[in-house]
Amino acid sequence: MSDTCCIHVLPEVVANQIAAGEVVQRPASVVKELVENAIDAGSTQIDIYIKDAGRTLIQVIDNGIGMSADDAVTAFLPHATSKISKAEDLFELATMGFRGEALASIAAVSRVELRTKQADDELGSCVCLEGGNLESQELVACNTGTNMAVRDLFYNIPARRKFLKSNESEFKNIVQVVEQITLAHPTLQFSLHHNGQMLFKLLPENTHQRILSLMGKKMDGKLLPIHVETILGTITGYVGTPEAAVKRGAPQFFFVNHRYIQHPYFNKAVQMAYEKLIATDTRAPYFIYFDVEPAKIDVNIHPTKTEVRFEDEKAIFPILSAVVRETLGKANAVPSIDFDQDDAPFIPAIQTASTQTPKIPKVSFDPAYNPFKSSGISSGSTGSNNHKPTKNWEELYTTQNKPEPKVEEDRTCGWDNHLWADKQDTTQECKVMQWKKKYVVVLTDQGIQVLHQHRLHTCILYHQYLKRLDSTERYSMPLLFPEVLELSVQEQALFVSVQAELSAMGFEFEPFGKTMYQITAVPDGLGDANPVQTVLDTMGLLQLHPQAGADKRKQLTAQALAEKSAIKAGKTLTEMEMKLLLQQWSNCNQNAYSPNGKPIAVTITENEIENKIQ
Ligand code: ADP
Ligand code: MG
Repeated sequence: MSDTCCIHVLPEVVANQIAAGEVVQRPASVVKELVENAIDAGSTQIDIYIKDAGRTLIQVIDNGIGMSADDAVTAFLPHATSKISKAEDLFELATMGFRGEALASIAAVSRVELRTKQADDELGSCVCLEGGNLESQELVACNTGTNMAVRDLFYNIPARRKFLKSNESEFKNIVQVVEQITLAHPTLQFSLHHNGQMLFKLLPENTHQRILSLMGKKMDGKLLPIHVETILGTITGYVGTPEAAVKRGAPQFFFVNHRYIQHPYFNKAVQMAYEKLIATDTRAPYFIYFDVEPAKIDVNIHPTKTEVRFEDEKAIFPILSAVVRETLGKANAVPSIDFDQDDAPFIPAIQTASTQTPKIPKVSFDPAYNPFKSSGISSGSTGSNNHKPTKNWEELYTTQNKPEPKVEEDRTCGWDNHLWADKQDTTQECKVMQWKKKYVVVLTDQGIQVLHQHRLHTCILYHQYLKRLDSTERYSMPLLFPEVLELSVQEQALFVSVQAELSAMGFEFEPFGKTMYQITAVPDGLGDANPVQTVLDTMGLLQLHPQAGADKRKQLTAQALAEKSAIKAGKTLTEMEMKLLLQQWSNCNQNAYSPNGKPIAVTITENEIENKIQ
């Protein structure tokens, strides 16, 4: 850029503004470019300061090699780069940047102040630009490294500034970018500050620790390491156990040579490895790192560089899928018996574990019995159920998913014969039994009704929870040992927006550190459901419906809680429990569908049976 010849300066600035549209789409793109430059400069510590989601300020301070006084100005020229000098270099690039246009583009649409110094220099340089025009350059005393402040992004392009989304949404994008970069470089130290508040500080650590630092300790014990050498290079990282799978927002990351990439094709390979291990509508987390020769990938296919083409994609696909599957298998996550998925946890169809269930003692029907008390259905507090209570769903998963080898002889076809035994109960006329620990079967004169036990209970709880939301009564049950809810930075914003609904339901929270809360009380009747997971799932469901009004939010909260606390498939029910469920179902008008819209019951009439067997 020249100060003396306006004719050249103007088109250049305009050209840079246009180029900026490609590189600088939103504040998060600026953060990405500046942090990647800092990494390329060999920094070990990078501090990021943001104001107003990046509208007012994006500042990145590093302790890298810095720039000379000349370079501090040259760096802002289009195609200025210290990283390539000939076209072939493009194919062998190991650094983050490669086009030499990021700084020129950023400077064209903002006010930039750069302070930088190299280790051997006594003084550093301070360079100021406005809209791409050099305003000042002077020598200053500063630390070794680079301190780049980008102010008033898009101040000179009002249309672009208006196009920015809400601060919440723009900041979320920034967090996403920072998350990707910090995961790609666990050995570097990072901190992120927003509006004067430090959101996190990550000390140098290994990959596993970095994942836990970012995703929260809830991921602890749920990550399995993978490692394989391929024709392309090395694949390492971590994949989640099946129990870490979630319906929404599973953290899924691919990195190639320390750069985050999106790769739908490889995503499919990982997805395939989880087939039949997780419900079809859930996703397992993964953090997978490819280390490859730079010449074997093409990073130039997308301006923001998150899409990368590999030379041998077709050959890598099966290797990737196999290594993930093998890892899950070694960790015993792959069951030997195939099972039905639906909305149930992973439980084999024939439950040999039930051999422990002794004949149930005779219990007379108690209409006042409330299965929704926390000591309800699964606790055996009525003395009717000697089967070992499960404390939470993780435990349910581990105990149920490892069937004992012995199969009780009289339990052919998976029928729970003992459920026919209680014939002394005369208060109910129909015969009720459980089938496959998944269905309640009712024999009446009219026919046979088969009810999905989880949906049935969900429907009952849903109506109970909805009533709670409209009443002023408190339904909290204090926890003797508060549970810690650790949230990622993104989850925290979402949590704040659903806290009111959760509190109305009976949850009580206390702030506990920067990104943590203590759950000090849970809704009465939550039963054995894991409080932390319940909160996360409720947040997930509400997040899916950002436009929901107050009533819809209530329904969604009740639905999430009901789904979480309802009995699941795999749970043995006593006859009394089944009759109670049926009675309570009739109190909510025998709703035909569970709150998520799936049918609860199917009836086979005598006619239908007769037609079939004649
Ligand atoms: P690229 O990164 O593609 O080379 P940029 O426009 O992002 O292009 O940066 C231009 C040049 O400025 C870089 O090649 C590098 O020499 C220098 N530079 C930018 N940021 C830094 C930094 N934080 N520390 C040291 N040098 C930097
Ligand atoms: Mg760059």
